Amino acid sequence: MGSFDYDLFVIGAGSGGVRAGRLAAELGAKVGIAEEYRVGGTCVIRGCVPKKLLVYGSRYAASLADAPAFGWSYEALRFDWPTLIGNVHREVDRLNGAYTRTLEKAGVDVILARATLEDRHTVRIVGRDAPVRAKTILIATGGHPAIPELPGAEHLITSNECFKLERLPESIAIVGAGYIGMEFASIFAGLGVKVSVIYRGEQILRDFDGDLRDGLAAAMRRHGVDIRVNTELERIDKEGNGFRVHFKRGDSLHAGLVMAAIGRLPNTAGLGLQHAGVELGWNGHVVVDDYSRSSVENIYAVGDVTDRVNLTPVAIHEATAFSETVFNDKPTPVDHTTIPTAVFSDPEIGTVGLSEEEAREMGHVVDIYKASFRPMKYTLPGREEKMLMKLVVDMDSDRVLGVHILGPDAAEMVQVAAIALRLGVTKAQFDATMPLHPSVAEELVTMRHKWEPPVPVAGSDAAA
Ligand SMILES: Cc1cc2nc3c(=O)[nH]c(=O)nc-3n(C[C@H](O)[C@H](O)[C@H](O)COP(=O)(O)OP(=O)(O)OC[C@H]3O[C@@H](n4cnc5c(N)ncnc54)[C@H](O)[C@@H]3O)c2cc1C
Repeated sequence: MGSFDYDLFVIGAGSGGVRAGRLAAELGAKVGIAEEYRVGGTCVIRGCVPKKLLVYGSRYAASLADAPAFGWSYEALRFDWPTLIGNVHREVDRLNGAYTRTLEKAGVDVILARATLEDRHTVRIVGRDAPVRAKTILIATGGHPAIPELPGAEHLITSNECFKLERLPESIAIVGAGYIGMEFASIFAGLGVKVSVIYRGEQILRDFDGDLRDGLAAAMRRHGVDIRVNTELERIDKEGNGFRVHFKRGDSLHAGLVMAAIGRLPNTAGLGLQHAGVELGWNGHVVVDDYSRSSVENIYAVGDVTDRVNLTPVAIHEATAFSETVFNDKPTPVDHTTIPTAVFSDPEIGTVGLSEEEAREMGHVVDIYKASFRPMKYTLPGREEKMLMKLVVDMDSDRVLGVHILGPDAAEMVQVAAIALRLGVTKAQFDATMPLHPSVAEELVTMRHKWEPPVPVAGSDAAA
């Protein structure tokens, strides 16, 4: 190893850093990893895992409301936030311990401190006198919630604080309508909080398929969520026990809490990357090539800090490819196509491949297949909620370019559909697949008729 303390030093023990550190150590490298907060990173400590547990918790309200139609009766049910959040924290603690033990078992030096770069091989660890030197450095520092610049921004909480609330507010205004905003809107609404979503764009969930965006907005409004699009924030004032949120067009609303969910920014500030000559992109992300190598030969970066596709499985995939490339002599580029993704809102979204809009923009001539129906489990309770399934198919090749689902278990279905999409499945192969009955998923393979846009009625606005 010559003058180096480590073959690999990883900054950040989140999804990407933990995977890369463990794999490199298992391949024989001497590895150190620094973590300034808690091992496990965003996903485990204040992202996917605690959020999904809260999603499960919030969905009991609808199940309990439907239960009498299936013969169940109950009395005196009540919801207790401290019990739910306490149990979530216990699970997060368990996972935090498990991740730490996994690293230690692989022989990784786990250092619970902030680390920064002094030059391309030297890492300064806060609280230690001597820096360490590493042959290869991996930046896996993730990201943090962006806060809008406006008067009263100091009153905003973010997803981080949502996991620390001691009690639920009576009402919350969520600024931003990306997947994190919509998920927390559904969590809070499910737990009985009055929710408003404030978004300056035309429709929630920018970049998702248009039918999913419209369908989710309509369904959440039916659930009582107050979604205000084309609405820009002006300022936030303290008011009583809560806040008054003022909009640029002159109106305002009162909310017990105001949450910023306008996106996330890469954690590169103060990291010393400039001392090593690492190139950063327009929003501060580390610019990398297909092998996750930065502009400096021995410095790599994976996960949210590179702002490619900011999801846990992607960070893990990039980390695995990095370890194979650098420590197993198998150059492995990362393929960022066909990534299934979910929005754990109520109703849920699962989506993979191209949206109809993307497919058309890319020049595909597409056939659209859509099914909108009431899932069987809603029939007895008389729930008027529809499931939406949509296939985007390339007309020339018959290849399925996108699968988009809104409704119960959408995420689970889309994970499986993603395998087929990856293998280049055609619509004819969907049709040749035997349906599984009775299930909602069977609709995916029984959509026979192409969707045609409604013909405008003469004299109506649409026909004008
Ligand atoms: C509320 C929320 C919900 C989400 N839900 C999902 C989901 O359902 N599915 C999904 O796939 N993804 C989800 N994500 C995204 C997912 O959490 C991230 O994509 C993933 O965690 C990225 O992993 P990473 O390794 O790049 O960074 P992180 O997991 O963020 O890890 C980075 C680590 O680096 C540490 N660090 C930063 N700077 C330093 C430093 N200088 N020294 C030492 N340590 C440092 C941080 O403390 C952190 O622990 C969610 C995110 C949020 C916020």
